[in-house]
Amino acid sequence: MAGNTNIGTIINIQKFTVHDGPGIRTEIFLKGCPLRCLWCSNPESIRPEPEIGVYPKSCIGLDKCSWCVRACPTQAIETENNKIKSINREKCISCLACAKACPNDSLKIFGRKMSAEEVMKIIYEDRHFYNKSKGGVTISGGDALVQWQFTLEIIKRCRRGGIHTCVESELYCNRQILDEIIPYTDLFISDLKHMNSVLHKKFTGVPNEKILENLRYLAERGVALVLRIPVVPGHNDSPENIQASIDFIRKDLHNSLRQLQLLPYRSLGLEKYDALGLSYPMRDVEPPRREEYEARIKNLSEHFRQYGIPAAAGTTVPFL
Ligand code: SF4
Ligand code: SF4
Repeated sequence: MAGNTNIGTIINIQKFTVHDGPGIRTEIFLKGCPLRCLWCSNPESIRPEPEIGVYPKSCIGLDKCSWCVRACPTQAIETENNKIKSINREKCISCLACAKACPNDSLKIFGRKMSAEEVMKIIYEDRHFYNKSKGGVTISGGDALVQWQFTLEIIKRCRRGGIHTCVESELYCNRQILDEIIPYTDLFISDLKHMNSVLHKKFTGVPNEKILENLRYLAERGVALVLRIPVVPGHNDSPENIQASIDFIRKDLHNSLRQLQLLPYRSLGLEKYDALGLSYPMRDVEPPRREEYEARIKNLSEHFRQYGIPAAAGTTVPFL
């Protein structure tokens, strides 16, 4: 886990969000995630460092422009039919010069460095809305705890300013990091992806023991938690896994859980995979028909509620 106290690498800052925590919020999306979920719809958030996405369709042509090729110090730009085609990621040193030189948004920068002061200035612009709506700030990603020192700096400053803080993380981190973060966090949002560690590793790239231990730790400390299950057909929606999830939540998380949110699988972000030169592992998996799957998610949330678990379909339900 890398981190810098005062400088963060940020994918996006979104104002007026209402899905990731209570009320109206400003959400800071940090770059970097320790998991590699097969169904990830935000591939630009995986790597911790800034990177370039390539969009050849809008390239105006090397004969008219070629600023990217001229700007690149390592000959990493690959071309085809008079247009940019891709970036050789082995040669690229992430200097971002090509994207800065491009006049036509054919090269897009994912991730920019910002100081804590710059971020706080944006956060404070909407303070009035947080107060009125009982909202605040959510640090998300990627995973907020990959750049945990920067996250800590922001939430400490928010706490000093009386702003509600929410941290969204996969919790695949060391206990010491949680100990630093917990005192300044009003609400955690995390995921439960699979109860079987072998399958968890197969679907996300990491086993689940550390994540489950950290969830238990939050519960032992009485830390408020919103838990999400991304329900992915044929991956984690078997009756056995649903029952194992129910058992775990009832036995180990009752002290913390404010809401369980069940999220339908959607194959989003495919264009970004292409732009980043990554392959989408679930490209051949047909997403289920929206109406059918939404009904399934609703039924599942009813099922969880029968066990006394405060479950909701999606993230739009008001906080219980
Ligand atoms: S980021 Fe820098 S090294 Fe990478 S392709 Fe662009 S100009 Fe070349
Ligand atoms: S700088 Fe942009 S528009 Fe110009 S050739 Fe390169 S990708 Fe195309």
